Amino acid sequence: MPTVHQPLNLPQDAPYGTVELDLSACTMCQSCVWLCPTDALSIGEHKCELVFVESHCIQCGMCQSICPEDALKLRPRIDPQPSADTQQILHQVEPFKCTSCGVPFVAKSMMDRLLARIWGRKGVQASEDVQELIPLCHSCQIQKQQGGNTKRAPMMIKPRQVSRQPL
Ligand code: SF4
Ligand code: SF4
Repeated sequence: MPTVHQPLNLPQDAPYGTVELDLSACTMCQSCVWLCPTDALSIGEHKCELVFVESHCIQCGMCQSICPEDALKLRPRIDPQPSADTQQILHQVEPFKCTSCGVPFVAKSMMDRLLARIWGRKGVQASEDVQELIPLCHSCQIQKQQGGNTKRAPMMIKPRQVSRQPL
């Protein structure tokens, strides 16, 4: 191997490399993240950032094959620079805030799509109760299902009384 300071392109099917993302196509659906076997792809803050670590990527192609928008391409190479070991933000989108507490919890583009499909009755059907839960974060969904009672979930097990016997 010659001394390499810049990324060196490798032949197709080499097990090292990066991914290239078509920003205009990516909807932040996160399918690639859940399938990536090495956690080279992950989700950043508020589930609105797609993060990548090049040195973790084995170019298996699973992210590319699952992507419904055909937004990912593999690029085999070796990058000797320290940046290959650090998290790179591939994509960052506007967050959607919980309509109850205001905490950002999902990509706005994803929520807009889902709500449009439900209201337009295009392939997704949901009862009125479920529709009310969709724009809520996980905590607010649980609270709403409990009728606003935040003190105790109905399925929670009562703590056991421990009787202390004298020694
Ligand atoms: S790259 Fe594809 S699979 Fe990954 S988040 Fe974007 S649209 Fe979804
Ligand atoms: S090619 Fe494989 S290892 Fe690399 S980011 Fe995609 S799923 Fe992860």
